[in-house]
Amino acid sequence: GGSSLATVPDPSDRLLGGLLSPDFDDSSCLSRYSAALYRRPSLHAISSYIVSALRRYESLHRRCGPGTPAYARAVELLRANASFATSSSSAASGGSCSYAVWTPIEGLGNRILSITSTFLYALLTDRVLLLHSSGDDLHGLFCEPFPGSTWILPAADKDNKDDFPIRGIEKLTDWWHHDSLGSVLRRGEDPGMAPWLYVHLRHDYTKDNRDQQFFCDDVQAKLRTVPWLVFRSDNYFVPGLFLMPRHEAELARMFPRRDVVFHHLGRYLFHPSNTVWGMVTRYHDSYFAKADERVGIQVRRFYWAPISTDDLFGQILNCTQREDILPGAAGGVPAAAKGSTAGGQPGKQKAVLVVSLHGEYSEKLRDLYHEHGAAGGEAVSVYQPTHLGSQRSGEQEHNQKALAEMVLLSFSDAVVTSPVSTFGYVGQGLAGLRPWVLTSPVNKKAPADTPCRRAATIEPCFHAPLDYDCRAKAKGDAGRRVRHIRHCEDFPRGVQLV
Ligand code: GDP
Repeated sequence: GGSSLATVPDPSDRLLGGLLSPDFDDSSCLSRYSAALYRRPSLHAISSYIVSALRRYESLHRRCGPGTPAYARAVELLRANASFATSSSSAASGGSCSYAVWTPIEGLGNRILSITSTFLYALLTDRVLLLHSSGDDLHGLFCEPFPGSTWILPAADKDNKDDFPIRGIEKLTDWWHHDSLGSVLRRGEDPGMAPWLYVHLRHDYTKDNRDQQFFCDDVQAKLRTVPWLVFRSDNYFVPGLFLMPRHEAELARMFPRRDVVFHHLGRYLFHPSNTVWGMVTRYHDSYFAKADERVGIQVRRFYWAPISTDDLFGQILNCTQREDILPGAAGGVPAAAKGSTAGGQPGKQKAVLVVSLHGEYSEKLRDLYHEHGAAGGEAVSVYQPTHLGSQRSGEQEHNQKALAEMVLLSFSDAVVTSPVSTFGYVGQGLAGLRPWVLTSPVNKKAPADTPCRRAATIEPCFHAPLDYDCRAKAKGDAGRRVRHIRHCEDFPRGVQLV
């Protein structure tokens, strides 16, 4: 025995039921085909339709990606047209490849979610996804997801005239930028004539309905002829794509169950680099491999939701004991809330992974079980890989550690997450689990009767959904339009797929 997995994974399922392409060699990226041996097998079937859509996408990316004649032609054309504000020669006429360029903003969780959203958009609109990285932020984090090509936009080289011709791409951050889709619409111009456009989907894009019209069918029809779209978003805007009638049928075929979009696309796209995978497997093998059960607890604090360390720790205990995720301390807190008697099975080994910028929560939890032991004869051990104190998203090593911890979190059998955290969304999504989400503090206190709630869905929350109804051409609630998109429990302004 000794296997900690409920079901022994089928070694022939290294391709995750066809989600992954077989066209890579294993050594280039150790995590790609072996992550399945660590994670609980996915309970969520994938459609053969998404499998063939991904294979089709991969051949498009191979044909149009950097280094190909088609790419060179597209860049050439862009350079020729970019100097004219809105070119009158239809830009798309010269080449058949078009692109969705992603640019970074905010922390790693936000980035993973916006890359996924941009990828789904690319998949739906036959564009090629390319990531623009400024500096170290993406470096050394992920393997290439598409065989025989790269998803990294070639860097601009100031001495090289062949550099990527959208100058100042890293400065595209504001909705009022001259070349943003919203600005073009505000000026009453035809977006379909532009050689490239900036699609501003940062949380403040809801200020003006022109920026939100990205999600409208008539604007989408015009964007088909724009060969380069540059995106910047700190949001998981996938639910917005599900609100577009033109993609409805295709999305229903790709995702007959809509609550697993990130679960599948995330496992398809994000394979930790060998460096990150080394961190993950060393830690896992040392502390978690032998456990009977792994519990992940993600503790994220936001300045806008203040609560004291003691109160938050109390909330975590309250949640995990009430929901039978962790045993109470022996001879300690009575398990009255559960009404259970001799709770756990004797001798069961539970390993708890705490991920947080702060060290206090795992220290307190470890002390608790160390001093009192666990009720029910279980053995509970508590581990926290790092406690870095503060967020430094521009640094490579910092991001590598953050990714390693998201991935470790995704190996859990049960997850407790913090509300509104994209870091937590990524962990639960890769795991394919509905987490127990800690409730947000009210007046600096955790609500005593509901310390946490089981999430309604595995899906991340789209924190800043559009509030424009394209058909009515008026304000409209995105959470009341279709049955499978609802307001999020952890962030009621947002919406999510259920
Ligand atoms: P969010 O702010 O919780 O939505 O998540 P993000 O990932 O977008 O941004 C938070 C960033 O702070 C992460 O990317 C990390 O750089 C850092 N961070 C937050 N929590 C943790 C943690 O538990 N472990 C590590 N290593 N870093 C964290």
